[in-house]
Amino acid sequence: MSLNFSFSPEHEAVRDTVRRFCRDELAPLVVEAEEKEQFPKHLFKRWAELGLLGVRYPVEDGGTGMDKVSDCIVREELSYVSQAFATSWSAQTHLAIWPIWKNGTTYQKEHFFQPALAGEKIAGFALSEPDGGSNIRAMTTKAEKVEGGWRLNGSKLYITNAPIADFLMMAARTSPELKPDAISLFIVELPCKGIEIHKLKKEGIRGSETALIHIEDVFVPDECLLGERTGTYPLLLECLSENRVGVAANALGMARAAFDAAKSYAEDRIVAGKRIGDYQAVAHKLADMATDIEASRLMVYYGAWLVDQGRLDSATAAKIKLIASETALKVSEQAIRIHGGAGIMREYPVGRIHRDAFVYVIGEGTSDVQRNIIARDLGFKP
Ligand SMILES: Cc1cc2nc3c(=O)[nH]c(=O)nc-3n(C[C@H](O)[C@H](O)[C@H](O)COP(=O)(O)OP(=O)(O)OC[C@H]3O[C@@H](n4cnc5c(N)ncnc54)[C@H](O)[C@@H]3O)c2cc1C
Repeated sequence: MSLNFSFSPEHEAVRDTVRRFCRDELAPLVVEAEEKEQFPKHLFKRWAELGLLGVRYPVEDGGTGMDKVSDCIVREELSYVSQAFATSWSAQTHLAIWPIWKNGTTYQKEHFFQPALAGEKIAGFALSEPDGGSNIRAMTTKAEKVEGGWRLNGSKLYITNAPIADFLMMAARTSPELKPDAISLFIVELPCKGIEIHKLKKEGIRGSETALIHIEDVFVPDECLLGERTGTYPLLLECLSENRVGVAANALGMARAAFDAAKSYAEDRIVAGKRIGDYQAVAHKLADMATDIEASRLMVYYGAWLVDQGRLDSATAAKIKLIASETALKVSEQAIRIHGGAGIMREYPVGRIHRDAFVYVIGEGTSDVQRNIIARDLGFKP
């Protein structure tokens, strides 16, 4: 095994292409999406044209066949410009359609995976519930077997893309009499009789649409059950674990954006005849921010490399998500302090980045949940 701390020319080319696209096409959409709290739906088509919906999938399955390092580069660059857009992208490409690619039938791949990869269908991943947020096993949404399919009842909370989705990958408990982790995934097409979607107003990632979902006697045909009736729980855990490294790359992008804004402000802003960056209090903040970001970057790309080697374990994934998301939160807070009053004004991006960074110490497993995973790996029982 050789150690290599630089990106390959191919990785640099991916970064250049995505960075150009983000600067020219994404950045101009950010303010309006935030103000209107509306995701620009045409982006899915555009992402598909650029191959950005398929980064995680092999060429033979319609993807772009890139490695996890490239995937993290894409995520970092998307989040540098807008965590809201990056969240909607990831809910579709990484959470909602990955289980279909991994375990779906030919019918499911043709009707859901391929159209989603082509940006023709928008998807969401409906796991979290009002009563079972951090604890998946506390899930109460249930699926009962009926003639020709399943009947679903329950509710889902904070589901990204649900207000604009054509289908949801929905988790439900199939066999409560068997075992607590008898949880399966169902593809639910929208609109659908029995599904009510209530769009939520948010503080963070406002340009991504999120909803509360009521599910009442929803019929899902047999061909829309993914895997076995005794549960696709291990698949669900695998999906979440690998995605933690990706989420960390998102957090890295936000931290970098906040740092660049703060550094530039510290260079330009003159107070009492001196650049504020030359005051030690500000310079030290920037030094700490740069150091934390560097540590976070090494962890993120080490994690991506582990995924590419097939060697990522859940405790390492949790450590990477914990460090990167907490760094983004801390760095964006410091960026606001460096901006002084300007940090509170919407004209500057740092307030938005800080609100967005909060979402990532919560979403996809809170920091406490990551600590639980790490502590269990150390032999404790939190
Ligand atoms: C903007 C946004 C988008 C989202 N998108 C999606 C999506 O697309 N699909 C989806 O399924 N979910 C989504 N989520 C849900 C997200 O994954 C949950 O919010 C998250 O898992 C936490 O659950 P909760 O909000 O119910 O918090 P809770 O579980 O109620 O936690 C509240 C507090 O208690 C702590 N806590 C809870 N349990 C423990 C424990 N065992 N040990 C220590 N501390 C604990 C938590 O750390 C936290 O501080 C989204 C959330 C947000 C905010």
